[in-house]
Amino acid sequence: MSKYIFVVGGVMSGVGKGIAAASIGRVLQGKGYSVSAIKIDPYINVDAGTMNPTEHGEVFVTEDGDETDQDLGNYERFLDKNILSDNYMTTGRVYQTVIERERNLEYGGKCVEVVPHIPEEIIRRITDATKKSETEIMLIEVGGTIGEYQNMLFLEAARMMKMQNFHDVIFVLVSFLPVPSKVGEMKTKPTQYAIRTLNSAGIRADFVLCRAEKPLDKIRKQKIAISGSIFPDHIISAPDVESIYEIPINFEAEEVGNKILKLFGWGPKMGAPGLADWQSLVNTIETVDQPVKIGIVGKYFKTGDFVLKDSYISVIEAVKHACWFHNRKPEIEWINSEVYEKEPEKLEELKKYDGVIVPGGFGSRGIEGKILTIKYLRENKIPFFGLCYGLQLATIEFARNVCGITNATSEEIDSDSKEQVIHIMPDQVENIKHNRYGSTMRLGAFPCVLSENSISFKAYNKKEISERHRHRYEVNNEYREQLEQAGLVFAGKSPDDRLVEIIELPDHPFFVATQFHPEFKSRPLVGHPLFNEFVKACMGKNGVDGSRGVETEDGELQIVNY
Ligand code: GLN
Repeated sequence: MSKYIFVVGGVMSGVGKGIAAASIGRVLQGKGYSVSAIKIDPYINVDAGTMNPTEHGEVFVTEDGDETDQDLGNYERFLDKNILSDNYMTTGRVYQTVIERERNLEYGGKCVEVVPHIPEEIIRRITDATKKSETEIMLIEVGGTIGEYQNMLFLEAARMMKMQNFHDVIFVLVSFLPVPSKVGEMKTKPTQYAIRTLNSAGIRADFVLCRAEKPLDKIRKQKIAISGSIFPDHIISAPDVESIYEIPINFEAEEVGNKILKLFGWGPKMGAPGLADWQSLVNTIETVDQPVKIGIVGKYFKTGDFVLKDSYISVIEAVKHACWFHNRKPEIEWINSEVYEKEPEKLEELKKYDGVIVPGGFGSRGIEGKILTIKYLRENKIPFFGLCYGLQLATIEFARNVCGITNATSEEIDSDSKEQVIHIMPDQVENIKHNRYGSTMRLGAFPCVLSENSISFKAYNKKEISERHRHRYEVNNEYREQLEQAGLVFAGKSPDDRLVEIIELPDHPFFVATQFHPEFKSRPLVGHPLFNEFVKACMGKNGVDGSRGVETEDGELQIVNY
């Protein structure tokens, strides 16, 4: 029998519910249990794929090609396992199934109602995903905050599950305790209300994780415990941290794992791995001081007066993992390349970076600035790593400035151009023609064959790899020969040779771009081979000295293969 932990939010969103769920999971894995996690997003969208990046943040792509919420990325990074499409749910998805079933007469002529049929479908999805992933403990993060209209039916499903399996379901409320600057005191009232709002949905919180700038003191713990009828030692202090990777360690110090297991009538398993590997990662994060300065060219930052970097979260994390892998301190800066379109003399500032990443993107805004950036990096031998759109733009740059195809462009940018070195994949034409945008890109994991002698081959140390994709356009094969003759190396291709997956340039410290998104598969303890190789190039001659590898018998450090 599996156990279920619902993680719900109180007071306000954006206080790290996903990271809290992922951290609880990591702690329980350390106790020897198999753990997985489900994300529930209460919006109507069937998936996150059609949303604007400033609206939603990153779209995280799973191995099986689902376009999901960035929290699935957190789960994968913390739990060090692939999380599949079954573990992602939206209101749209739930209703879609119920309506389809009704149309197929699967409710046997009954009146299909919001309650109980919607919560029942939610429960079916949760239990099915748990069975399929063979997990002992499933975390279920309910998006939004309690008291919101949007997630009511998910809470109703959770309540029903609790009633059906009383000892197998628990609730963790992630709350927020403000310290108003004029008052100077940490206030518990919003949390007290959140606990009561949850009670009015028929749910009692077993734990309250108190997110705040500072640790929670005894007085406030007592207050929340008494007003909310919760055991004082189930009120957990969760103060802000320098790095999110510290959180499992902090939870372990508060014995969160053992306390949860006790409620389930379980305890740590014999020979459980503990958190030693995680602790060593945190030690590295806390001690690294030699910086590697990486610039990321982006555009999806602005929401009103605020700047968010959520759209690039997996890229950011992958850079950090690779830097830590090499015992270096990641220093990430944002480059707005649109500036270079008007003031090309500013390109000089790119010299201050040890390396630059051009990540994925869509549409034509800022494209020329990105192409100028890539040209500068190529000519000035500054390490360059292109991801998805980054590969397409690097190909355009090379076609224009090395092959002399002056007007080279992508069909996405200019659909009438005669020189589309990047064009739409043939199987995508119909999708666009009929406005079929939802979940129709080339999505998920596909194999890729690497050329021996390439930088990529050296990085992965194997010939066939598998990486995740999300795109509609590709390198136009009609230009392959011309590009190749001018020196562009197609270092990775689909096994049928139809699609270019990686381009590289020799005689450059690191000029590599991928049609896939390697960032989705980067994990904190080992990094990702291409990001590791990129950061190594950014470190210049220092190479891998002192990297966080595996210690060999004679005490030498050796890089772990992916
Ligand atoms: N816009 C490009 C395409 O659809 C690249 C997509 C991306 O960077 N994810 O092919």
